[in-house]
Amino acid sequence: MKVILAAPRGFCAGVNMAIETLDTALKLFGPPIYVYHEIVHNQYVVDRFRNEGAVFIDQLSEAPLGSRLLYSAHGVSPAIRAEAAERRLKTIDATCPLVTKVHLEAVRFAKQGYTIVLIGHEGHDEVLGTMGEAPQCTVLVESPEDVDRLEVDPQRPLAYLTQTTLSVDDANRIIDRLKQRFPHIAGPPREDICYATQNRQEAVRLLTPEVDLVLVLGSQNSSNSQRLAELAREQGVAAHLIDHAREIDPQWLAGVHAVLVTAGASAPEVVVEDCLAYLQKQYGATVETRTIRTEEVHFALPKELRAELAAS
Ligand code: SF4
Repeated sequence: MKVILAAPRGFCAGVNMAIETLDTALKLFGPPIYVYHEIVHNQYVVDRFRNEGAVFIDQLSEAPLGSRLLYSAHGVSPAIRAEAAERRLKTIDATCPLVTKVHLEAVRFAKQGYTIVLIGHEGHDEVLGTMGEAPQCTVLVESPEDVDRLEVDPQRPLAYLTQTTLSVDDANRIIDRLKQRFPHIAGPPREDICYATQNRQEAVRLLTPEVDLVLVLGSQNSSNSQRLAELAREQGVAAHLIDHAREIDPQWLAGVHAVLVTAGASAPEVVVEDCLAYLQKQYGATVETRTIRTEEVHFALPKELRAELAAS
């Protein structure tokens, strides 16, 4: 069996920064550190931090008054920031700057009187945060059919924004439909789907034709990981999204000669290594890394932590 190992894969700059932020906060302040939602959408990472004293919460009321609260990489709405201030929580903001960029675009369009069409997945943490910037004038669409059903005030200008971790192809289909229906619709100055999402999708798109099976390391609630598996399936190749090699069903590998292994932006390299070790041990797999693109993006720690570090 041959394994093609996709590069780039796994952690992006936003996830690296969020993880380093929580690591640093635990070292500087000690547990517990409350984290609003999962720090990143990955079971392995969340379990590890839970063991080290992070407490993941879905309601701010779960964090005692005055305690330390970290916002995850997916960002939060202004309403959550206001509630945190009311509870006098000491906040650390690990929102990915590329998510913040979309928030700022939403604020700008809202101030200029636009109706904002946000392309994204209902209920995703990032979407909740972005919609919360301008809830009165934002509508969510998930498909071209949603665009057909859209009812907007014809007196107001229209703009679209997207979640950062969408399928590039799906987003383009929806944007095309929006432009057909609303030829004057404005868009973001630069694309919202982030570099990491695009690069991981590009690698899967280019490498999938060479294999009979794609294994994506990542959690089920990770949007960008789900998109990688979908992309492979769209090319007619079986694909499975797994948190760990333990989830591999040997039947998936029956008659398979070549496997593409990749990982979503929130999946740590250790789960990739475990998967490769399993395939090498059980199937005598040889591993070839194929680098489609190199990444050199790095985000600084949040300013609240930099200040603490400078003072310590
Ligand atoms: S996937 Fe993109 S937007 Fe999300 S944390 Fe990573 S770099 Fe930021």
